[in-house]
Amino acid sequence: MKVDSAKQLPIIVLGGGPAGLTAAFDLSRQGRKTILIEKAPLVGGISSSRYWENFIVEYGPHTYHVKQDDIDDLVRENYDGELAIKKRVTNMLIRGKTYDYPLKFWQLFRGLNPFFSARIVADFLVSSIRFSLFPRPDDSFETWGLKRFGRSLYQLCFGQYSERVWGIPPSEISPRLASSKLHKLNLKDILIKLLGGRGQEQATYWDEFIYPEEGIGIIFNRMAERIALAGGEVRLETVPVGFHFRENRISAVTVRRGDGEETIPAGGVISTIPLSELGKLCRPRLSGPESAAAGDLKNRALVLVNIIIAADRISRAHWVYLLDPEFRFNRFCEQKNLLLENKPPGKTMLTFELCCGYGDKIWNASEEELRTMALEDIGRIGLLDGLEVEKSMVTRSKDAYPIYGLPFEENLKLTFRGLSGIPNLFSAGRQGLFLNSDMHDSMKSAREAARGLLEDRDPKDFYRENSPLFPSLPGS
Ligand SMILES: Cc1cc2nc3c(=O)[nH]c(=O)nc-3n(C[C@H](O)[C@H](O)[C@H](O)COP(=O)(O)OP(=O)(O)OC[C@H]3O[C@@H](n4cnc5c(N)ncnc54)[C@H](O)[C@@H]3O)c2cc1C
Repeated sequence: MKVDSAKQLPIIVLGGGPAGLTAAFDLSRQGRKTILIEKAPLVGGISSSRYWENFIVEYGPHTYHVKQDDIDDLVRENYDGELAIKKRVTNMLIRGKTYDYPLKFWQLFRGLNPFFSARIVADFLVSSIRFSLFPRPDDSFETWGLKRFGRSLYQLCFGQYSERVWGIPPSEISPRLASSKLHKLNLKDILIKLLGGRGQEQATYWDEFIYPEEGIGIIFNRMAERIALAGGEVRLETVPVGFHFRENRISAVTVRRGDGEETIPAGGVISTIPLSELGKLCRPRLSGPESAAAGDLKNRALVLVNIIIAADRISRAHWVYLLDPEFRFNRFCEQKNLLLENKPPGKTMLTFELCCGYGDKIWNASEEELRTMALEDIGRIGLLDGLEVEKSMVTRSKDAYPIYGLPFEENLKLTFRGLSGIPNLFSAGRQGLFLNSDMHDSMKSAREAARGLLEDRDPKDFYRENSPLFPSLPGS
């Protein structure tokens, strides 16, 4: 098939989360026939919203991070009401006390027992001397943390919490995770300031967001409607089962809905589904090692326990991180605090997040077991004392967080190398780039993928520019 005739064929977009919808929205707006394939019965992916007992249920409330660019415009364009900018309020519970998130070390030092604070400083100095006398590369999350914070602070704030979240010891987690998540924290600088020095300006985190009153999913529902209005198709409860190739290009995609299969001729594919699933579809174009590497890029699953409490509100924070080792859940949030109106009156909902492995004991635990665990955690801080707990509901997400185990960089490099050999396939979004990205960045990469496909760009250039990991992967 000639490339020009392929331009008359539909582009297939895999996945109907924020990224897939953005790609399909842009393509259909530009007059390109687009068919979006989504396995779930609704769009929005892990940023979708459902409604239960007058509450909005999300995979943890999803606030849109304002970054003042064309993706903000896209979000606003897909919402009719006002989207007021708000400031994030996030807390961390450490040794029974509440601190701001991101962590402010001076606040922590003030709140901790002075002997423990002195130990943190001493440990930090010991670590600094040890690593300058015996230099060691950042070969794991643990080494990265010990070098920069010393053992006591590292364990208190990052070490054991990370093991709980990722399900593997921090010595087996890639230092990439630390450098992407924690690089803005700088204990050395704080200590210099405490000793009267000038130090450097602390880098700031984004803290402004917008959040529609109906929940974030309304934006993605609207995008799906507009794709259809522009002549595109959004097919729910449908999965891709195979790609067909002509030379190295995808010429058609077979999809399945229920018992029925259909093969759709395709001019190109934008995939936002997990790389492990995309790898299978690309066989035999990916070599054995490339396909195996894609299969090893696994995600951590997430279980969320939503509990309705008979109280108007129980906190003012949007999220509270549970860092101490006695907690089992990572964090909880009170969705009502995000909404413009305090509704419904007299009731509030807490959502507890717990990471697990897909199909493991936690994943398969009953609603009753998970609810009991969540109430035990919240009981440790006495937040619900004397309050009536009403209903609960559990939701689960199979692909919540990419696991950056030590071999992941090699696997990602091999996967991108294989995918780069298919010129009319672009893999984008959080799942498609194996990134811990927010909605904004996931959507932005999908917009770039749509542009890349329309302009016949080399996918390798797209991966270089849109994956912060790819350019520095060895050999890429
Ligand atoms: C607990 C949690 C809280 C978060 N909070 C925020 C927040 O407050 N703000 C923020 O900006 N970001 C937040 N994020 C990140 C945000 O959820 C993601 O950035 C965003 O959803 C990524 O969009 P995506 O389309 O790339 O991927 P996804 O949302 O994962 O969408 C992928 C889609 O592909 C579909 N799919 C998968 N496999 C197949 C298949 N084989 N066939 C067809 N379809 C398939 C899925 O059903 C899904 O709809 C949070 C993430 C988590 C886990």
